[in-house]
Amino acid sequence: MTYNVLIIGSGPAGYTAAIYASRANLEPLLIDGPQQGGQLTTTTMVENFPGYPDGVEPFQMMDDLRRQAERFGTRFMSGRVTKLELSQEPLKVPHKVWVEDTELLEAKTIIIATGAAAKYLGIESERTYHGRGVSACATCDGFFYRKKVVAVVGGGDTACEEASYLAGLCEKVYMIVRKPYLRASQIMQDRVLNNPKIEVLFEHNTLCLTGEGKVEGADLVYKKGSAEEEIRHIAISGFFLAIGHKPNTDLFKDYLNLNEEGYILTEGASTKTNIAGVFAAGDCADPTYRQAIVAAGSGCKAALDADKFLKN
Ligand code: NDP
Repeated sequence: MTYNVLIIGSGPAGYTAAIYASRANLEPLLIDGPQQGGQLTTTTMVENFPGYPDGVEPFQMMDDLRRQAERFGTRFMSGRVTKLELSQEPLKVPHKVWVEDTELLEAKTIIIATGAAAKYLGIESERTYHGRGVSACATCDGFFYRKKVVAVVGGGDTACEEASYLAGLCEKVYMIVRKPYLRASQIMQDRVLNNPKIEVLFEHNTLCLTGEGKVEGADLVYKKGSAEEEIRHIAISGFFLAIGHKPNTDLFKDYLNLNEEGYILTEGASTKTNIAGVFAAGDCADPTYRQAIVAAGSGCKAALDADKFLKN
């Protein structure tokens, strides 16, 4: 059979696309991907998604979205898309998608909602304390660290933005920067360097995080490998990674136009990619906002774009 709409990814963008596509009688099939529920499930509590005045556990929220899509007829498949063949004329020759190399699916339209992944340093204690002091999203989790001391790793625009945001909530913010300078734009640099609540620790790298069951501190190394090398300890409750994101788009790079960081390029305000009948929604196409509510909104747009494409 040829599906009208195949949705790849099960974050807020994918599920919202599924809700809209199924309510338009398009009988979509959603392929979960390797992390059911997407990036949001790596956080502890969602308090900024409209409609949940008391906050919501991320798994609960993703389950709510899934059940809402299911109620209108969305079908689900577990697994990872491993290969595709995109058609130039999908209404005549459908797009082909392989799940786990074995199962071949055909579809007239595809909505890509594969998200992005925050980069981590790769030290073991990041995993140990994940969700217990380690976060890659200050906007999502900063509120839990009100009046506490936290650290942000990175020296780019994201790190400066996250540090400035956290400085509005926290008692003090350290920025851990591996180089002797910030990479961020001048205006963002000025903002952090002039903020009395932010202390930039240049030429520092993180060795490990410490604490009893949750983050209570970090061991840093200053000027690693030089004669001045020194181990320093900072007392912190939160450790925020802001060293970049990687969109999950490797699979599509032979077909779709991506920007230099790998985000899928879409046409104007639509979710259309350069291939007919292929749409992109959520963080895989959004280097700027990276918020669940924005991803959900673009999932809605992708379903409407797919519906229009099928009816033309
Ligand atoms: P960037 O790649 O610009 O910066 C990443 C930062 O993390 C750099 O300081 C880098 O250090 C550091 N870093 C990377 N790996 C490690 C590591 N293993 N250990 C320690 N530090 C590390 O990513 P951003 O997310 O900040 O920005 C991505 C893009 O989005 C940029 O083009 C940026 O300008 C843009 N952006 C714009 C914003 C705005 O205009 N408001 C807001 C946010 C992002 P080093 O410098 O040593 O490589």
